[in-house]
Amino acid sequence: MKRFEAAVIGAGPAGIVAALYLARFGVKTALLEKSAPGGLLLQTFEVENYPGFPKGVKGYELADLLSEHLQSYANLSLVIGGVTELRREGKSLMLKVDGELLEAECVIICSGVGYRKLGLPGEDRLLGKGLSHCAMCDGHFFRGQKVGVVGGGNSALEESLHLSKMVSELHLIHRRDAFRAAPLYVDRIKSAGNVVMEYNSVVTALHGDDGLEGITLKRLTTGEEEFLPVRGLFVFIGFEPVVPFLPEEIGRDDRGFIITDAEMRASIPGVFAAGDIRSKLCRQIVTAAGDGATAAHAANSYLEQGHAH
Ligand code: NAP
Repeated sequence: MKRFEAAVIGAGPAGIVAALYLARFGVKTALLEKSAPGGLLLQTFEVENYPGFPKGVKGYELADLLSEHLQSYANLSLVIGGVTELRREGKSLMLKVDGELLEAECVIICSGVGYRKLGLPGEDRLLGKGLSHCAMCDGHFFRGQKVGVVGGGNSALEESLHLSKMVSELHLIHRRDAFRAAPLYVDRIKSAGNVVMEYNSVVTALHGDDGLEGITLKRLTTGEEEFLPVRGLFVFIGFEPVVPFLPEEIGRDDRGFIITDAEMRASIPGVFAAGDIRSKLCRQIVTAAGDGATAAHAANSYLEQGHAH
């Protein structure tokens, strides 16, 4: 069985920064990631608000830069594998990673969030067959075509701006008539030229068997429904926590995000949480990185003080 002083679950910005700080403290650390380091950055076209990049930076480029920073630390191991279980056993925390046990003295959970679903029949079947949560990954399939985007937050508008440059017409479907997104994005989308605002509207049905052929839109002000023939629908209606491995006793808020104190300590001794998975208001790359640094400091103190939480 592999043993580490610290295990960090998830290699998005929070996890990468937590692992970097732990490595620099000299802590023997495992950074556990089920796919590739970068987290949601890998699905983000352009990052405009990360300090130090006044002209913006591509999400994957920032992910590469962040992970490159980890490479020179001999006490840090990147372990590729999915965590399915986390439990306390005496003074240790046991993790099941791709079926194998790993032991750590403390754990920082940085497993991030997944895209919220519409909750409509056929949604899982049509994912990747017209339905998508990533304009950067799938937008080019719809070059010159008509597509829909659902949502009114920063994600929906940012991704719409990217998509509008390649599609013929974009229907931006939002359940209200005022956007939650930053005014900067709203102004830009309104001047895009090929964006049709579908205010006060929701998607009530997805049509198509092997691929999306269209959607039903319901107008919330009148109750009327109409068919919109789009082969691409991009859904950005918020996020949900990704925590299939969490012990039941850990404190979470009513949406399932992990509750921590200001030092990122969760309710189980030796367990910390950082980044989007944490119950908080502001979910940004910089706040994830800040959480990661704070959690690493707190975890290091926990180790130094003989596991005092
Ligand atoms: P969000 O801010 O939670 O917005 C979700 C949007 O989807 C809202 O407009 C919401 O409508 C709508 N919605 C929620 N459930 C729905 C449903 N069942 N049917 C239809 N519409 C639904 O999510 P997000 O845009 O993904 O952003 C998440 C976090 O990441 C935010 O903190 C955001 O600021 C951050 N983020 C930041 C940037 C950036 O700074 N550049 C970029 C992307 C994301 P209502 O408005 O009516 O609630």
